[in-house]
Amino acid sequence: MRKTKIVATVGPASSSPEGIASLLDAGADVLRLNCSHLTTENLRKAIADVRAAAPRVAVLVDIQGPKMRYSGEEQILVDGQELTLGMDVLGLDTGLRKSEDLGLQVGHRVLMDDGRIECRILGLGGTEVSLQVVRGGLLRRNKGVNLPDTEVFGGVLSMKDIADIEVARECGAEIVAISFVQHPDDVTRVRAMVGPEMLVIAKIERPQALQRLEAICRVSDGVMAARGDLGVELPYEELPTSQRTIALTALRMGIISICATEMLESMIESSRPTRAEVADVSAAVRDGFDAVMLSAESAVGHNPALAVRSMGSICEVAERSTFLPNHFADENPEAAAVTAAAAALAKRTGADWILSLTYTGFSARLLAACRPSAPIVAVTPDEAAARRLRAAWGVYPIVSHRDHSMTRAIEEGLVAARAHGHVRSGQRLVICASRTSPRSDADTLLLHVEP
Ligand code: PEP
Repeated sequence: MRKTKIVATVGPASSSPEGIASLLDAGADVLRLNCSHLTTENLRKAIADVRAAAPRVAVLVDIQGPKMRYSGEEQILVDGQELTLGMDVLGLDTGLRKSEDLGLQVGHRVLMDDGRIECRILGLGGTEVSLQVVRGGLLRRNKGVNLPDTEVFGGVLSMKDIADIEVARECGAEIVAISFVQHPDDVTRVRAMVGPEMLVIAKIERPQALQRLEAICRVSDGVMAARGDLGVELPYEELPTSQRTIALTALRMGIISICATEMLESMIESSRPTRAEVADVSAAVRDGFDAVMLSAESAVGHNPALAVRSMGSICEVAERSTFLPNHFADENPEAAAVTAAAAALAKRTGADWILSLTYTGFSARLLAACRPSAPIVAVTPDEAAARRLRAAWGVYPIVSHRDHSMTRAIEEGLVAARAHGHVRSGQRLVICASRTSPRSDADTLLLHVEP
């Protein structure tokens, strides 16, 4: 069973009911809707469409955030040239504030077109910025602008972002991802808007977020290595180590991690990934990410289902030679004592499965954080909890009635696991359960051999 989960972005190539069904058949665990390409009303319809076609899948709503784009005339910039641009032309949402009030400073870099063009700030005046071109090129309208040295003051949410988050909450999306997070407060603000159960993922795509990674992880349910913008804001040679730091920090802190962007980029057009892409997905599995993500490959690619299947088979083979240490339990000996014991017992006994009886999904997520050798069948009475668990490493959720008596609950859990074809005669299971529903470690552990 593959343990690394696949997030597939839904777009024009995959948004029909048949398209969504084919992503699921191919092995997608979470479907992502990218708000950069959707109006708020279209987002509402897109969530409903995904729900109708795939009622058990987790929906991830990726909030656009303050993505800056150049809106001026097309022009060629020459090395050494000086020019002055309005902050609105650079895509900075100024309100009535001056450039200094937004955090810009003389000497900061302004990158355009995925970092191909680099300028430095020479001066700031009112709402204008004077720049000197360090590395020139053809600057086209709508190209992305990045400010890697600038901590942009003010929150990261626009009015559209706030409306999109509200729609995600109303429509019951399981996961919301926040773009361009700089500070833990950016996450806590969204948490206050969506309530305790929706998973809040901080996209790590700014150097400022990397510097505060632990503090951001502490208030988030997960992090995404959003390598598109991170690869522009950091020197690209630093990306592999930074992605590893993101995965390891999430692993230590027991939160979900997603590796994103250009993972199988050539499959937008091609039927086979390049060798470098295969190595990239394989490295993400060895880094310990919970999930790997497809963007344009599944949203606008020529064969979205094939991209999902290719990603799945690369993960499965990579997992055969990957052993992930239980850093989470080492660092949280009390918070995950029983789940860590379940993971250790599964390893010691060569168990085929861990059966997790969980109410909110919390203890199943703790189990996943321990990266056990056996896959986890998580039985929960809560359909939304089951959908959220689709994002967690190694967890196969099942919805089933939960009896108050532990003996009956275990019996019913085994019946549900058998019915899903997960448990066969002679197999060894570690059963790990919580007697009560509050979000806490499990409190019951036993070993079962299936007759
Ligand atoms: C990224 O930058 O890698 C990313 C996932 O964000 P988006 O696709 O929204 O640009």
